[in-house]
Amino acid sequence: MPQRVVHHSACPLDCPDLCGLAVTVDEGKVVEVDGDRRGPITDGFICGKVRKIAQHLYGDHRVLQPRVRAGAKGSGAWRTVSWDEALGLVADRIASIRARAGGEAILPYHYGGSNGWLTEGALATRFFRRLGASNLDRTFCAAATTAATQGLYGKLPGVALEDFEHARLIVLWGVNPSATGIHLVPVIERARGAGAKLVVVDPRRTPLARRADLWLPVRPGADLPVALAMIGALFARGHADRAFLAKHAAQVDELHIRAARWSIADAAGVAGVEAKQLDRFVELYARSSPAVIRAGWGLERNRNGGSAVAAILALPAVAGKFGVRGGGYTMSNSDARWGVSSESAIGEPPTTRRVVNMSDLPGALRDLRDPRVECLFVYNCNPVATAPDQAAVIAQLAREDLFVVVHEQVMTDTAAFADVVLPATAFLEHRELRRGYGVMRMFDSPAVATPPGEARSNNQLFGALIERLGLGRPGDAVTDDELVAATFAAHDNGAALRAQLAEKHVATPGPDPRPVPFVDVFPSTPDGKIQLVPPGLDREARGLYEYRADPGTEAHPLALISPALATQISSTFGQLREAPGALEMSPHDATVRGISDGDRVRVWNATGNVECQVRITPDVRAGVCVLAKGLWRKHTHNGFTANALVPAAFADLGGQAAYNDARVQVAKLEAV
Ligand code: SF4
Repeated sequence: MPQRVVHHSACPLDCPDLCGLAVTVDEGKVVEVDGDRRGPITDGFICGKVRKIAQHLYGDHRVLQPRVRAGAKGSGAWRTVSWDEALGLVADRIASIRARAGGEAILPYHYGGSNGWLTEGALATRFFRRLGASNLDRTFCAAATTAATQGLYGKLPGVALEDFEHARLIVLWGVNPSATGIHLVPVIERARGAGAKLVVVDPRRTPLARRADLWLPVRPGADLPVALAMIGALFARGHADRAFLAKHAAQVDELHIRAARWSIADAAGVAGVEAKQLDRFVELYARSSPAVIRAGWGLERNRNGGSAVAAILALPAVAGKFGVRGGGYTMSNSDARWGVSSESAIGEPPTTRRVVNMSDLPGALRDLRDPRVECLFVYNCNPVATAPDQAAVIAQLAREDLFVVVHEQVMTDTAAFADVVLPATAFLEHRELRRGYGVMRMFDSPAVATPPGEARSNNQLFGALIERLGLGRPGDAVTDDELVAATFAAHDNGAALRAQLAEKHVATPGPDPRPVPFVDVFPSTPDGKIQLVPPGLDREARGLYEYRADPGTEAHPLALISPALATQISSTFGQLREAPGALEMSPHDATVRGISDGDRVRVWNATGNVECQVRITPDVRAGVCVLAKGLWRKHTHNGFTANALVPAAFADLGGQAAYNDARVQVAKLEAV
């Protein structure tokens, strides 16, 4: 008789909600997944993508055994090999490259994947540091935001998601919780039921924008002048909380001077919104308390992104919105008072080897010298589907003289160009330690399912490579238990967290997992004050809060943005999507180009060219078009996706990829 057992786990996907999961397993196979109630907002329901994860775990695309290419790069010809042969091949090649050209000729390329603290990078990082490999600056997401938030506030936890219920005004700025954090939606609805107002700032009329009291469709890249004009108006109209600023903030006058350069009318003009609507926003914000701004990651992906995030996060300080439950801002809570970090499990300090910005992968592979990159080792990542300048990425990966290793769960667009593909476990198949970046919880989740085929975790893979290349040292933490122990051992709070995890597999960072900013927690900046114009950021941005004009041209006037889908918040699960990708554009932009709904169109600029279907919708403002991120090559007519149109350009802070600075032209293609 089959034995169905329900195990508890947690979702490590790139999502602020960090759901606790109830996973039904039958003879080692996952047959059902649902939410449990160990997290504060999951409330027993989860998103469709994880509910259907069995399709991902046991689908045709799953890599079950190591494979070595048996034809030209990208030809699809493979030879199945044993792990022993695959590891021998990889280890020998890396050893010979390192001996001849030096460790920096090896470039690890990785992102979050569906991994947490335990498997994202513990042994991988140890391996590459001990090799002396190039370091990777991970800049696809949150690089500008992290720089801005830490510059202004240090590691200050934001408003807990569950505390949005107490707000009288909720501002969703560049974020679409209906797709990327669904559990905030009922919290917002409860707040609205109690009388809270909702403002949505987004070039798309998202589901919550449709129900909002005010929708402000700001043109991509123009959030900075909007926020500065609001700050200027708060000061000018006597809405600034001078007492709070005097006590808790530095560089107040400098921020005031820089913000005062923008009038409501000028900012509205640049942003393409009505001045009276922006004015209404200012008054609503000034007069509402508690007021919370949920800032998203759509804001940072442009030339002004870091300054925009900084200006938006300065708003609650200027308007005195802190100090009450449900008042302030929420960005990322990933550093919230945990007092531990995964660094201590690595067992090897960071190196001073060269640093490569992952958002210019083609540039690194093409241009770096002394040494050239000869080995690209990809794990937890699918750069063909996600890195800027997709055509150039593909051209570089296809080079016969570049040794490409990919450790993956399924055959991705990147794995197609590998020399060696190694099968990876998915999150229910290995133990994981995951802390939330929205919800302030940490889970220790055991492996609950049997890995199909010969899939191995990152730590198993890199542990084996460390051994083969003689990079191990006495006392290294190697097993999951040892890595968990090492993660917590070096920190004051570690014993308390371990005790919570041992008892309930879930832990909170302190006695109150919903700290109120400026009551329970304060900025961790050197002087404990909010730095409204941090000198370091001012230098890095070469003028924080300086507006850089829209990069649109007559030839390429439309702003292309590439937000997440509800079915995919990254390229993960792209193999399961059957529907083709569609470019969304406004009725106005379609009409002037003679384009009808469902037409096949060409979208292009100087970087690339995408051919796909079009969907005309009034939910996208004029001058903007949308092609979702995370699509795979099979989802468009010519095998290129939104990142083919994104130049390798950066935001003003953090080396952040400027995905939303893509400017394009669109034309109808004749029927074929
Ligand atoms: S992706 Fe988000 S909503 Fe879906 S199960 Fe994971 S944490 Fe929950």
